[in-house]
Amino acid sequence: MTTTPADSLLDRARALDAADPLRAHLDAFAEAPGVTTYLDGNSLGRPLRDIPEKLAAFVRDDWGTRLIRSWDEQWMALPMELGDRIGRVALGAASGQTVVADSTSVLIYKLMRAAAAADPDRTELVIEAGNFPTDRFLAEGVAAETGMTLRWLEPDPVHGVTIADVEAVVSARTALVSLSHVDYRSGALADMPGITAAAHEAGALMMWDLCHSVGVIPMQLDEWGVDLAVGCTYKYLNGGPGSPAFAYLRHGLQGVLRQPIQGWWSAADIFAMGPEYVPSGDIRQLLSGTPPVTSMLAMQGMLDLIEQSTIEGVRAKSQSLTDLAVRAYDEVLAPLGVRLLSPRDADLRGGHVTIGHPDFRDVTRRLWADGIIPDFRFPDGIRLGLSPLSTSHVETITGVLAVRDALESGDF
Ligand SMILES: *Cc1c(COP(=O)(O)O)cnc(C)c1O
Repeated sequence: MTTTPADSLLDRARALDAADPLRAHLDAFAEAPGVTTYLDGNSLGRPLRDIPEKLAAFVRDDWGTRLIRSWDEQWMALPMELGDRIGRVALGAASGQTVVADSTSVLIYKLMRAAAAADPDRTELVIEAGNFPTDRFLAEGVAAETGMTLRWLEPDPVHGVTIADVEAVVSARTALVSLSHVDYRSGALADMPGITAAAHEAGALMMWDLCHSVGVIPMQLDEWGVDLAVGCTYKYLNGGPGSPAFAYLRHGLQGVLRQPIQGWWSAADIFAMGPEYVPSGDIRQLLSGTPPVTSMLAMQGMLDLIEQSTIEGVRAKSQSLTDLAVRAYDEVLAPLGVRLLSPRDADLRGGHVTIGHPDFRDVTRRLWADGIIPDFRFPDGIRLGLSPLSTSHVETITGVLAVRDALESGDF
């Protein structure tokens, strides 16, 4: 009997799963009937198995029984407590600098607008032409509102923004450099400490969008001197659709920068109900109105799992998964004319691998109908999003082989 490339990839995947120190966590996630392979945890993380019971207990006890008393007992502090937890588990951020609120888009606006107003002599915002649309659109809005000039970086689409790219555009006019830590398309991982230092060298503030890195890439926001950061909780933090985002504002800028949506939750004394606005001098100034408490429940169990696994352990498994995906790409997809659109070096890559082929839109539709769920990105990319705690090596290979089978058979 001859061993096919598919057999040997599956053997390798089984061996890696058997040796995976985090494999027990795979069972913590709810089953999805009809789905054999979920490769989209980078867009919407799976629910943990115990979420229905936790939600039911919340409705029964915290809301249903404690009623409005729960605000004092626990909910008022939740945006800050949960922020601290994300900071400690995933961001390398000491307490008092992270809050959970709003959506990523709204928090980007608040922080960009605050940074734009920080120094009247600085009139430029540096952003990237390939960044996620919401980040670009918000920067355009802030520029229109403030009269600032946008300086667009146009980096290599696979390898992403480099220190040199940033050094080439920053100057004494730069107010803010705003970039994504992991590129949502290619998965390229930016050099956060190096680029932050380059922005600071020019006297600019540095903001990072952590949507595709929080919960999968270790980082040290405090140590690396990051000024501002924003990220999603429904991707690798499995908070559920529309779960609120988080924002980080380093201690030294609190009470200095001021976000513009100055609702009552951002005031120094929420219940003073006084005639005029006095901003809170701490991280709470980033809040605006009543926080979405129910939507903050699901991410808490995932933070427990990441804490148990350690973020370094999660990253090690992520690299193992993406390395295997690239190896499988080389063996069974490259021969079919598929392009690799992510960096080859795992240290330069986040948690997903992107591949390209003109037929991928149709292939994706076919795979979804068959219970194999990767992510399609216009114009012809498939993202293999490998959320480390919920994805096995065998699942990864099953997904790659399904892409191969569809392309080979032409049946899509
Ligand atoms: C997912 C994502 C967002 C999402 O923003 P929302 O306000 O939650 O819709 C923003 N930026 C990046 C880079 C993302 O990947």
